[in-house]
Amino acid sequence: ARQFTRPLHDLANQYNQLLSAVAGAERVYEVLEEEKEEIDEIHAAPVERVKGNVEFQNVSFSYGRDENTIKNICFQVENGQTVALVGPTGAGKSTIINLLMRFYKPQSGTILIDGKNIQTITRESLRSFYGFVLQDVYLFEGTFRENIRYGKLDATDEEVEEAAKKANAHSFIMKLPNGYDTKLTEDGSGISQGQKQLLSVARAILRNPSILILDEAMSNIDTVTEIKLQEALQRLMQNRTTFVIAHRLNTIQNADQILVVYEGEIAERGTHETLLKKKGLYYQMYKQKENTIVV
Ligand code: ATP
Repeated sequence: ARQFTRPLHDLANQYNQLLSAVAGAERVYEVLEEEKEEIDEIHAAPVERVKGNVEFQNVSFSYGRDENTIKNICFQVENGQTVALVGPTGAGKSTIINLLMRFYKPQSGTILIDGKNIQTITRESLRSFYGFVLQDVYLFEGTFRENIRYGKLDATDEEVEEAAKKANAHSFIMKLPNGYDTKLTEDGSGISQGQKQLLSVARAILRNPSILILDEAMSNIDTVTEIKLQEALQRLMQNRTTFVIAHRLNTIQNADQILVVYEGEIAERGTHETLLKKKGLYYQMYKQKENTIVV
C-alpha cells in the first residue's frame, strides 16, 4: 500500500507547498528538486512556531561525490538578529540557505532551530517558519490583492492593505486604474522591478515568518523606490531572524554578524567595523568595490 499512497501523498504535499511557498524562485525550485529531496524521518514531528534561534554545528555538505561544497560550518544566531552572508560567487552562501531550508541534508554536522535538530521537524512545518524576499519575485495572473494575499491565503482585505502600507506599496497600488483589483500579468509587465520587490515585502509581512531569507537584488531600482524598499525591509526585519545574501553596503553595515564565506568555509566573521579593522579578506573586498557594493 505504501507504494501506492506515496506518490499521492507527495502530490498533496507538493500542492500544499505550492500554496504555502511565498517566492517564485523557491516555487520553481520546489517542483524541480522535489524528487531529490529527502523524506521526513519516521520520528519527525511538527513544530508550531519558533523564536528563530539558529545554530550550525560543524556542518559539511557535498552535492555530489566530490569535495565538500560546505566545510565544517559553525555559527550561532540569536532570534531577531540579522546575519549577512557575503563572499564571491560560488563560495557557498546559497548552499548554507539550502541546508537551513532542508532542501538537502548535511553529510555531517547538525543544524538546530531553537535548539531542535531540524531533521526532527517535519518538512512542512519547517518550511512554514520561513519567509522570503528574493531577486525573482513570483507573480501570477490575478489582482494585486490576490498576489499579496499569496503570503497568507486566509488574510482579509484589511490585512492585505495593512501589509501593503507597511511595505510602502499602498500608494503606488492606489494610483492604478482599479487599485487593489487591478490585474497583474504573470511577468508583472507594467510595474517596475522595485515595485515587484515591494509586493514581495508585503507578502512577507503578511506571512510573518520567524526566519526571513533575503536575497538582495542588485538590479537597477530607481532611487525613490529604493528608499521605500529599504525602509520597508527595515520594518520587516525588525525583531526577526534574518539571513541575507547581501550586496548592499547598508545592509551589511547594520548586520549583527557578517559571515564571510570563501570556498565553502567561513573565512572571517564579525561586524563591519571589526572586520575592517582586521584588514583581511573582507577589508579587501570592501576596498575593491569602491565602498558601494561589497560583492
Ligand atoms: P552566488 O553568489 O553566485 O549565488 P553562492 O556563494 O551562493 O554563489 P552556491 O550557490 O552555494 O554559491 O554554490 C556553491 C558551489 O556549489 C558552487 O561551486 C556551485 O556550482 C555548486 N552548486 C550549487 N548548487 C548546486 C547543485 N544543485 N548541484 C551541484 N552543485 C551545486
